[in-house]
Amino acid sequence: MVKVVILGQGYVASIFASGLEKVKAGKIRPYGIPLADELPVKIKDIQIVGSYDVDVTKVGRDLHEVVKAYDPEAPETLRGITVRRGIHLKSLRNLPIEATGLDDEMTLKEAVDHLVGEWKELKPDVFINVCTTEAFVPFESREELEEAIEGDKRDRLTATQVYVYAAAEYAKETGGAAFVNAIPTLIANDPVYVELAKESKLAVFGDDGATGATPLTADVLSHFAQRNRYVLDIAQFNIGGNNDFLALTDKERNRSKEFTKSSIVRDLLGYDAPHYIKPTGFLEPLDDKKFIAMHIEYVSFNGAHDEIIITGRINDSPALAGLLVDLVRLGKIAIEKKEFGTVYEVNAFYMKNPGPKDMQNIPRIIAHEKMRMWAGLEPKWL
Ligand code: NAD
Repeated sequence: MVKVVILGQGYVASIFASGLEKVKAGKIRPYGIPLADELPVKIKDIQIVGSYDVDVTKVGRDLHEVVKAYDPEAPETLRGITVRRGIHLKSLRNLPIEATGLDDEMTLKEAVDHLVGEWKELKPDVFINVCTTEAFVPFESREELEEAIEGDKRDRLTATQVYVYAAAEYAKETGGAAFVNAIPTLIANDPVYVELAKESKLAVFGDDGATGATPLTADVLSHFAQRNRYVLDIAQFNIGGNNDFLALTDKERNRSKEFTKSSIVRDLLGYDAPHYIKPTGFLEPLDDKKFIAMHIEYVSFNGAHDEIIITGRINDSPALAGLLVDLVRLGKIAIEKKEFGTVYEVNAFYMKNPGPKDMQNIPRIIAHEKMRMWAGLEPKWL
């Protein structure tokens, strides 16, 4: 059994919950889950035991009701879990959503203790963090982090940074847990958090789930790199209509996305071709099915100039939700293997900004093989 607590019951988390229950019931095939039936930990063994949000329209409601707003075919098996109140720390500022957080009523230290207490009852193995994209500042030292929590420095911390701190506390007290950070806030790339996780028996995967245009760009760039075709420039953009794209219209938040996405160019090509890679806009009618476009100019043999153009409409949330079905099971495997801290082999395939810090993006086809071997599976093409 893999018990899961969700942090941020939005689009991705709701499609995760809905799709997971449908796969478990045999109603849909496990397409979009890379390791579907291959892992020793089976999909049917995943059990959602808790969910947290700060949106007043979600907190206190039954998970089934919340998920139904995103997927009218939400399975009945999601009934019986009440969405609990998380830590807000202004995660939803500038968005048209009314929020309520534990931090409205207590200090951060008390909120951490409160969460750890709830988790000891729910007994999750794995946390998945799919809260709204945050504007954040990584931590320079352990002391700075401890001081921010103990000293109730609300302006220094984001909700994710407090959730991971609480998860580490929980893992230390219970003997092991995993935290999947699917959002851009640097956790697996913040040495302070990786060290804390290692000491606390917490496995952290992160940062920022690799879906949509980014892994595709990575594959295309590896194709050019392997053939020594010289890339002149890359334009890649996304326009979507879900709340995540709305949140990204906020400059500070968009900067965190830009940061995670841009590192792939130098990592894969070995030089920094001029590029523009970022979520570009919000257009409500597109809803969750975003428009992606990529344009790459490059030089081939005998100075020939080529260019490729790729466009697509991609359902944003299912792309990440499918990966989460693997990540929670890999989290359980990491706990069993006692691989605490962060696991590059997992991050390199599933994350846009694979931790630990200074580890590169590598071609996904290689990352895929390394990840399989880490999970105890046969390589596929090697
Ligand atoms: P969403 O806006 O639909 O959902 C986010 C949810 O988190 C909302 O319900 C919101 O109320 C809740 N929330 C905000 N602050 C919170 C807090 N402090 N504590 C608890 N809950 C909180 O967004 P989404 O489309 O589900 O995306 C979620 C996250 O996943 C984003 O950060 C996004 O960057 C990341 N992500 C998404 C994709 C993808 O959709 N393909 C890929 C990579 C990363």
